[in-house]
Amino acid sequence: MPMFAVLAELKDGAARKITLEMLAEARRLAALSGSGSVGLIALGPMAPEEAERLAHQGADRIYHVEGEALAGYAAEAHAEGAKAALERAKPDTLFMGATSQGKDLAPRVAARLRVGLASDCTEFTLQNGDLVARRPIYAGKAFGRVAWNAARPRIATIRPNTFTPLEPDSSRKAQVEKVPIGPVKARARVAGFERSEGEMLDLTEANIIVSGGRAMQGPENFELLRKLCKVLGATLGASRAAVDAGWIDHSHQVGQTGKVVNPTVYFAVGISGAIQHLAGMSSSRTIVAINKDKDAPIFKIASYGIVGDLYQVVPLLTEEFERALKE
Ligand SMILES: Cc1cc2nc3c(=O)[nH]c(=O)nc-3n(C[C@H](O)[C@H](O)[C@H](O)COP(=O)(O)OP(=O)(O)OC[C@H]3O[C@@H](n4cnc5c(N)ncnc54)[C@H](O)[C@@H]3O)c2cc1C
Repeated sequence: MPMFAVLAELKDGAARKITLEMLAEARRLAALSGSGSVGLIALGPMAPEEAERLAHQGADRIYHVEGEALAGYAAEAHAEGAKAALERAKPDTLFMGATSQGKDLAPRVAARLRVGLASDCTEFTLQNGDLVARRPIYAGKAFGRVAWNAARPRIATIRPNTFTPLEPDSSRKAQVEKVPIGPVKARARVAGFERSEGEMLDLTEANIIVSGGRAMQGPENFELLRKLCKVLGATLGASRAAVDAGWIDHSHQVGQTGKVVNPTVYFAVGISGAIQHLAGMSSSRTIVAINKDKDAPIFKIASYGIVGDLYQVVPLLTEEFERALKE
């Protein structure tokens, strides 16, 4: 009976949305494979009600790894914790988020177990019982299909916002198994975390993103975009040109050397659409481009294009959205 396992991403003891998205895909594949089950691995402190919630979201069995070493995120300790749970659960497949944490952790886990890793996947199929993943390559210009060799588990990281979490089913129950780990000899330790800007969702989890480019001309003009973000409940992004100019922090950068995002709606404001920017956002479901140059490359991938001066268009859009959303 193949097990599709998910490595939960926890924040303050609660599972982040990517965990629920991965559970939904694991459930689908478990059903497709006939008699498959869904495992969930949680590393470190987890709120007491979380196990029940994760069962409602699709987990059949939860492996909760506990130990002092897992008090906060630390790559080496978490890789050891994951290894301990995987040795217990023995899943065929392990999904992890293609998030900052997942990208840090997945290669370490794969290397420790000497198994294959497909990163940043956006689709899975079962071909004669074999898992095949689809993933963007060449900065999103093409897609590749990859399969794993015989070593198990097959590890894949999944791009956030690719799959839709299941409707919670309160009749579902999961067995919880505790997996203890002892002290981990780590070569690095996390000295502390600093919270980045405001109450906005992280770019990789955001449903709506408003990004500004070189045309913002300075940090003060990003206020225009922050207003639009507030009205839409969106997260603020930026092109590298705006980040390199020092107008906004690098944590907002979208693209090849920034974050890869996958929102439902992406606003590209005063961004030309260089290939390195597209690498981070071209899989967005709806792209709205605002640019005064009608030949800007961004219009080639935009679902909606507004040719105009952002300093006129953005305040008008903000006003209209505010009015429409109040009604
Ligand atoms: C190795 C490497 C990695 C890179 N990684 C990234 C990355 O991760 N992310 C990234 O974004 N870039 C990245 N870049 C840089 C990338 O090549 C581009 O230089 C950058 O994306 C351009 O940013 P931009 O679109 O904001 O600026 P520009 O290309 O200068 O475009 C500005 C746009 O604003 C429009 N405009 C000007 N004024 C107005 C106005 N008033 N109203 C409306 N529109 C207006 C212009 O018509 C133009 O299209 C990378 C480059 C390299 C070489």
